[in-house]
Amino acid sequence: MNKFKTILLIILFNGIAMSQNYDFEQSLYYNYEMFKEKSIHNRLFKYSDIVKLISELKKNNIFEANVAGKSAEGREIFLISIGNGKKKIFLWSQMHGDEPTATMALFDIFNFFSDTVNYQDIKRQILSNTKIFFMPMVNPDGAEVFKRRNSFSIDLNRDANRLQTPEAKILMNVFDSLRAEFGFNLHDQNHRYTAGNSFKSAAISFLAPPINYEKQIDSVRLNAIKLIGSLYKMLSRYIPGHVAKYSDDYEPRAFGDTFQKKGTSTILVESGGWRKDPEKQFIRKLNFILLLSSIKQIAENSFQNMSETVYESIPFNEEKLFDVVLRNLTLNRNGSNIKFDIGINYEEILSDDKKSLYRKASIEDIGDLSVFYGYTDINFDGYVLGDAKTFNERNFSLKEIQKLDLYSYYIKGFTNFLIKDKLNSGFIDLPVNLISNSKKDLATRFVIGANPNFLIKKDNKIKYVVINGFLQKVKEDFDFEGNGLVFK
Ligand SMILES: [Zn+2]
Repeated sequence: MNKFKTILLIILFNGIAMSQNYDFEQSLYYNYEMFKEKSIHNRLFKYSDIVKLISELKKNNIFEANVAGKSAEGREIFLISIGNGKKKIFLWSQMHGDEPTATMALFDIFNFFSDTVNYQDIKRQILSNTKIFFMPMVNPDGAEVFKRRNSFSIDLNRDANRLQTPEAKILMNVFDSLRAEFGFNLHDQNHRYTAGNSFKSAAISFLAPPINYEKQIDSVRLNAIKLIGSLYKMLSRYIPGHVAKYSDDYEPRAFGDTFQKKGTSTILVESGGWRKDPEKQFIRKLNFILLLSSIKQIAENSFQNMSETVYESIPFNEEKLFDVVLRNLTLNRNGSNIKFDIGINYEEILSDDKKSLYRKASIEDIGDLSVFYGYTDINFDGYVLGDAKTFNERNFSLKEIQKLDLYSYYIKGFTNFLIKDKLNSGFIDLPVNLISNSKKDLATRFVIGANPNFLIKKDNKIKYVVINGFLQKVKEDFDFEGNGLVFK
């Protein structure tokens, strides 16, 4: 064997010996449903839901559940722990009230540890080497109204130094009492981020927060960097191209940066977007796997083998996605035809009864959007734009609207209807817009910020209607995914 071959073999052998096989993660991926907490099935679960689940946990003596303090509005914030090992791991979620994905996964993880049949050896190994502390829903007051900030309108993640909010104080007190080896700072990010300059959504983004403006890497941050490298490799098996890195600008007011500086290897996990998964149940599953994988790797110390260059190779988040891009539409302007793309985004709004989220669309961009992508992305070359119309011959009741043969109205260009009932809701789960005040102007406008309501025609026939940004093919029977708006 020549020297070159020997070296190659050594490299290969080391490569195999040093890389994780991720069998545990693979098995979790296929067995996830066994552990999924079924009482939580969308992002609108409430504080009362988790209180119920935590009181169940208290009955199981493998868990310790304590009240760490109270939110500004008096809701208890919990600290749950498991294990009796030396290495402490601290995970906290939802310091931003409208970022609930990881909280769901934490309850799946509690089910994983409660189960007495599966993965017994692995669990024994984890719990004899680590003690894991969980603080789910750090901002319960914000969560109650699905808002980022706490009830003082303060962003907790900018209050790590001043500690003026009770929630930030509680998080800092618990952190100081633990001084854990590893910390996991669990958030949701803009679902329109992509992993680098690609059309792939950043389903999960990581960051080992910096400790200063120079972005210096000390031994504490290096451990976070190595573990993220391993998680990146593991997740890339399931969602290749969909894992990214969050902006690494130093933010001295944030908890992640502060904790890293104080000596806990801290990992930011941002749950992003996934096509056709508005309630983020797939991203929740990814959180379940990546957090359990982290816990196992910390217990075994196996992440230490990972090269820090993997972390460096992870693409940064970029903003390349719209919710909808409709391309090459033709519009007659001042007597001549112009062609452009339309980028549409949805804003999520909590309904008045707080039981559902609905979406309100706006035109985000118009022009050449060839460097962007859309979750819905359709080429309308050869199609012409037209104005959506309001049918104002009569006022309908809500019951009549629900029974209306919409096809017969669409083909004449009508998408908006006058309603005589007094509606409290701001939306309707039907492909129509409702107007309760006949003075309201719903004229089609192709301008930035306008609510997108228009027609798409070919050969002078209306082929599609766009209602509150949702594209609806004009045919006799259809499925509608989305909501119209009620204009009061
Ligand atoms: Zn956040």
